[in-house]
Amino acid sequence: MNLSDEQAAFLLDMCELIQYATKQGFKVTGGELARTPEQQVIYFKTGRSKTMNFIHLKRCAMDLNFFKDGKIIWDKETLAPLGHYWEKLHPANRWGGNFKSLVDCPHFERNI
Ligand SMILES: [Zn+2]
Repeated sequence: MNLSDEQAAFLLDMCELIQYATKQGFKVTGGELARTPEQQVIYFKTGRSKTMNFIHLKRCAMDLNFFKDGKIIWDKETLAPLGHYWEKLHPANRWGGNFKSLVDCPHFERNI
């Protein structure tokens, strides 16, 4: 699969995740998808990212905001069912809540 095909397949999985989360009672809004190399340098220098080889640069990662009862949800325990659902959709899907170095619960990616 070339990058464009991976990006398209990634977005189709994102659609399924958003629909699943909505059925579980979350309101979902979109965060960052594409990222420029310049933005990645800023995130790296400020500690928001631990790597310069990040999948947002390939547009195969997206950050989502989940709300319940009007409050944004960040905690891993509440979002874990969504992470598990995401990782079951495709063997290359990774949820940031399961990252070892920097836990990033709003982050969903296809590790290509
Ligand atoms: Zn991210």
